[in-house]
Amino acid sequence: MNIHEYQGKEILGSFGVRTQRGIVAQTAEEAVKAAKELTEQTGTGWHVIKAQVHAGGRGKGGGVKLAKNLKEVEQIAGEIIGMNLVTPQTSAEGKKVHQVYVAEDVYYPGDSEPEEYYMSVLLNRATGRNMIMYSTEGGMDIETVAEETPHLIFTEEIDPATGLLPFQARRIAFNLGLSGAAFKEMTKFVMSLYKAFDKSDSSLFEINPVLKTSDDKILAVDAKVTLDDNALFRHKDYAEMRDKREENPTEVEAKEVGLNYVDLDGNVGCMVNGAGLAMATMDLIKQAGGEPANFLDVGGTADAKRVEEAFRLILKDEKVEAILVNIFGGIVRCDRVAQGIVDAYKNMGDAIKVPIIVRLQGTNADVAKKLIDESGLAVSSAVQFKEAADKVQAVLS
Ligand code: GDP
Ligand code: MN
Repeated sequence: MNIHEYQGKEILGSFGVRTQRGIVAQTAEEAVKAAKELTEQTGTGWHVIKAQVHAGGRGKGGGVKLAKNLKEVEQIAGEIIGMNLVTPQTSAEGKKVHQVYVAEDVYYPGDSEPEEYYMSVLLNRATGRNMIMYSTEGGMDIETVAEETPHLIFTEEIDPATGLLPFQARRIAFNLGLSGAAFKEMTKFVMSLYKAFDKSDSSLFEINPVLKTSDDKILAVDAKVTLDDNALFRHKDYAEMRDKREENPTEVEAKEVGLNYVDLDGNVGCMVNGAGLAMATMDLIKQAGGEPANFLDVGGTADAKRVEEAFRLILKDEKVEAILVNIFGGIVRCDRVAQGIVDAYKNMGDAIKVPIIVRLQGTNADVAKKLIDESGLAVSSAVQFKEAADKVQAVLS
């Protein structure tokens, strides 16, 4: 589960990681109030107003702006709240901003050379161990650094039996070119950051930038935190951080009815049972010259109700020009699925305006095909995978 920057910083802060301080605000008035409160705490009158959306690259899209007084806080917060923020990580339509984070300005005016680093914590799937990935080149796209100057990216692997050891934290501080007070601050930062990652059951931390101020403080200016969904049951307070506004509405709806649905950009809707078959079906659609509009695993019980829910979800996507149903009747009998499709189709009246190609294979496949063929509905059936692909191709061209 993804969370907002301000929530990520709350988690980091609770484990002693120093972060840029801030307060979240829903309106321009709240932003002004937040700025006043922050000035009392920090003494600085300058603030950054940061759009809170689940996407990075906000600065590039105009979602992070400096306000030098309360009037600017009000004006900038007013502009950012409600805007459609387009960043390199969003779609072309962008993401609607519902709230901003009013944060202390940590780039002191007159601080000619604040140092920015990159740091992330994640699982190295090749070794099965967590690692800290870091670089002197913070504040910019890490993808660009990886491409152009890969030697400036370092990694530190963590042995699960011992956890992160102090000498490793010192090696990180050393590789980042630090000495003196900043070196000590960095080792503390790294140790507490890893503790936060471990104890929060996160699957990703990405802190870009980590900042060194001119008075040698090390702090997290940004925080991208992804929590492990499967561990949320033991972090009830984190589970409440979920912001459904940031998720695809069809995906949220699918989750609520227990369907595994992922929205994609193509024109052929897929209804499949089993994740593996769903992936193979998506390949098949591509081979036939289409693009899958979604991934949808209806699971083991493809009865009429479920099939109907699945059709409704797929048809919400206006890009869908055809639907391919590809079901393997292993546990569930094909004729039951076929009956489900026919019933769902009839229930939905004229809601289904696109051609449907159905491939049912497995137990009672012949009975199922007969059911579909004799239903009198605009559904064509296929027995072979290839045949299904050809039929998809025929309706698309
Ligand atoms: P992102 O663009 O979504 O990654 O958002 P960040 O939180 O990383 O902010 C983008 C950029 O805004 C940072 O790389 C900084 O250069 C700048 N920024 C963030 N906080 C401050 C601040 O307190 N003062 C100033 N002057 N700039 C800041
Ligand atoms: Mn950032």
